[in-house]
Amino acid sequence: MSHLEAEYRDFRTSVRRFANDELAPRAAMLDREQMPPVESFAASLSLGLPSLPYPQHLGGGEGDIYAQCVAMEELSRVCASTALAISSSWILMAVVAFGTEAQQNEVIPQITSGKARCAWGLTEPKGGSDLMAASTKAVQSGDGWVLNGTKRFITNGGWADWYLVFARTTEKRFGLFLVNKADPGVSFGAPERKMGMRGSPTSDVIMDNVALPESRLLGDPEQGARYITEALLKSRLQMSAHALGIAAGALDAALRYTTEREQFGQSISKFQMIRAMAAEMAIKVESSRSVLRHACELFIAGDPEVKLHASIAKVLCSDTAMAVTTDAVQLHGGYGYLEDYAVERMMRDAKVTQIWEGTNQIQRMMIAKEIYEAV
Ligand SMILES: Cc1cc2nc3c(=O)[nH]c(=O)nc-3n(C[C@H](O)[C@H](O)[C@H](O)COP(=O)(O)OP(=O)(O)OC[C@H]3O[C@@H](n4cnc5c(N)ncnc54)[C@H](O)[C@@H]3O)c2cc1C
Repeated sequence: MSHLEAEYRDFRTSVRRFANDELAPRAAMLDREQMPPVESFAASLSLGLPSLPYPQHLGGGEGDIYAQCVAMEELSRVCASTALAISSSWILMAVVAFGTEAQQNEVIPQITSGKARCAWGLTEPKGGSDLMAASTKAVQSGDGWVLNGTKRFITNGGWADWYLVFARTTEKRFGLFLVNKADPGVSFGAPERKMGMRGSPTSDVIMDNVALPESRLLGDPEQGARYITEALLKSRLQMSAHALGIAAGALDAALRYTTEREQFGQSISKFQMIRAMAAEMAIKVESSRSVLRHACELFIAGDPEVKLHASIAKVLCSDTAMAVTTDAVQLHGGYGYLEDYAVERMMRDAKVTQIWEGTNQIQRMMIAKEIYEAV
């Protein structure tokens, strides 16, 4: 066992127990009813999960990136939607990194106490992979700013209280703003009806002449792109762990099912072809976990190579999630195609992990850039 893993073994065990006891009984219902995970999220406060990365003096647990990844993996192993709701609470670490003490004291305790939830506001109808095409505008007015624009596909849209919004402040520069659900001029689109992650609300966030005081701007109004790039590096690792957890959950389910299911007078786990598939799935899960752990080690050490390895981890973990969940459905035969078995949900949940957080094509472009620059 690696040094890092040994350090977090007890933490992993307690998050796994919590996920099995508290999330598993509700996971299928959240997906079926397309409801936000209100109760599961509230239950996670007892373990301090929504406040995990925040500094202690603001009510947080000071859990480093590896603790965050362990939590993500164990939660999404059971309920990927609740895991996403919890990791969304970590978005305002950007306020800790780039905000003033007054900003931190105002908003972070709301998050660490579980009173408020948060969301990213990056993607737009015309600016998805090309984030720098964002057209939401922030114009300076008197002592503050006025925001206009629409953010698309926003996780926790309408459910979150705080939105970290990326907006154009000059022709070529961007700023990061804290927008509250209650700010006049903020409204939400209808909830999107999705293939998976159905226990996680997604909608447009519409800003129509939203007037904000200066205190809602984070740091320098022209450095938003740099702030976002730094924040996304960390969330890329968290979301790699989220995808890895979906894969690990599907592998657990496939091992259990193939052990119990009998055909031709014996457990199907005795058939060589089934064993080979299970072995391939385990290879994918274990190698993804190792690559992610290495990326976390680089992150903790402040090694600039983390950029390359975070993208590799994102591609590998999400491609593993898609491949392993698909195989898990296959190993369940016809039953895998029914809503009654969790692998059906896991396969639908896995798909988006290849799309969000920088699509896997964009990650491959970034990997190629890093390796060619190193030649
Ligand atoms: C369920 C869900 C939740 C989300 N949550 C959030 C959220 O909370 N906050 C937020 O800001 N965003 C969120 N997103 C948005 C997500 O990050 C974007 O969907 C993603 O970045 C891709 O953007 P796009 O959908 O506009 O696709 P596009 O950028 O239009 O891409 C379409 C296709 O073209 C490919 N492509 C694009 N450019 C290139 C290129 N240069 N080379 C090769 N291929 C390319 C892409 O890989 C993709 O396959 C969420 C999306 C979903 C589905």
